[in-house]
Amino acid sequence: MTTSPTPPPSDPAPDRSADAVPGAAEAADVWDVVVVGAGPAGASAAHAAAAAGRRVLLVEKASLPRYKTCGGGLIGPSSGALPPGFRAPLKELVYACTFSMNGRWTRTKRVRGKGEMFGLVNRPEFDAGLVAAAREAGAHVREDATVQRVDEDAHGVRLTLAGGETVHARALVGADGSAGRTSAYVGVVFDQVDLGLESEIPVPPEIADHWRGRVLIDWGPLPGSYAWIFPKDDTLTVGVICARGNGEATRAYLRDFIARQGLAGFRPSVTSGHLTRCRADDSPLSNGRVLVAGDAAGLLEPWTREGISYALRSGRAAGETAALIAAARDDADVKEATEAYRTRIEATLGREMRAGRLMLAAFERRPALFHNAVSHIPKAWSAFEGIVRGRRTLADYVERPAIRKALRFVAR
Ligand SMILES: Cc1cc2nc3c(=O)[nH]c(=O)nc-3n(C[C@H](O)[C@H](O)[C@H](O)COP(=O)(O)OP(=O)(O)OC[C@H]3O[C@@H](n4cnc5c(N)ncnc54)[C@H](O)[C@@H]3O)c2cc1C
Repeated sequence: MTTSPTPPPSDPAPDRSADAVPGAAEAADVWDVVVVGAGPAGASAAHAAAAAGRRVLLVEKASLPRYKTCGGGLIGPSSGALPPGFRAPLKELVYACTFSMNGRWTRTKRVRGKGEMFGLVNRPEFDAGLVAAAREAGAHVREDATVQRVDEDAHGVRLTLAGGETVHARALVGADGSAGRTSAYVGVVFDQVDLGLESEIPVPPEIADHWRGRVLIDWGPLPGSYAWIFPKDDTLTVGVICARGNGEATRAYLRDFIARQGLAGFRPSVTSGHLTRCRADDSPLSNGRVLVAGDAAGLLEPWTREGISYALRSGRAAGETAALIAAARDDADVKEATEAYRTRIEATLGREMRAGRLMLAAFERRPALFHNAVSHIPKAWSAFEGIVRGRRTLADYVERPAIRKALRFVAR
């Protein structure tokens, strides 16, 4: 077993923590903050902690850029949570949304007013850009390194990598996705698990043109399911999501959906699947000096399963908190920082998740109601558009007594 080396003297990132953190000079081989996982949550956390002047290591098991099963829909709250100055590499701007109910009752709605409703990115490129931004802020990045174990002692956190090497930190942010090691360490409790399936389908120019600036959302035949087509240049990202436990029916839904859209004759360049997990309302977000963010914390919107904005927002909050923990004088300081993180997440993302859960419960019972509302009632479409653009949150609507009462009634 070896111990993680101190960054070499030639390493360009400055050790800005030595003045700020008690004991840093004596224990130079201890990173102030280690972040596990280089998705949007991890890259944001590393950026925030490095921007706060800490010595940060971002550890990623894959070689970057890496593929991630994801529609790449970048809604307003995601764009609003990007690191300062970061420009997302948008592949498409969305101005119209076609809705259907399991292939029927198709209706297209267009945005009103100026600008796009949301943007679409390719995740490998987007995530690699966020990692580059974290690097520019001073974070060190280590690829092809899998964290296998997390422990804590009186001195801080110890990570064991595949191969036996150990890495030490004053604070750890776990952002290793929905089946990561760090969720288990923190004891995250998940109360909703969904299976997402996707195909990346390259198409000829005339088909790509047909989808330019427009997405399709199909409310599915299985409770709580839906499918989408998200165009990106010459490739369509086509996917479905549904509660876990309906594997064959979910695969059949994707097959039928692709066939119905006339895309069955094109060979996908990638087909993949991924489980998403939403946290229970009272699930922990930290254990000692270890915080979790993004999918690792089960933070994503239960109805749409939108998770990039949750990853960016919780990642930034976790990075800022980890920077405080790295400077903590004692356990009381650590506790105060982790409590503040919990309060911050509960007040923002926790509130939005509660609204999303109620929407999902009602949508599972009466999907046609949602389809008709968004397709035919101008106020409902305008609310949908405003939420996607980030002008209002789902919670702003769901917390209105009349709407909450109606949703509860439908969800019975
Ligand atoms: C089918 C599907 C479609 C989706 N579409 C959208 C969408 O259009 N818009 C949207 O906002 N959200 C979407 N989501 C959700 C979104 O993809 C996730 O919420 C988001 O990727 C979470 O980011 P993250 O940084 O928390 O985790 P991830 O992006 O999963 O990153 C985790 C990283 O940790 C690394 N890692 C894992 N284990 C280890 C380890 N032991 N050691 C080191 N590194 C490790 C992984 O390699 C990975 O790079 C979709 C999800 C699915 C399944």
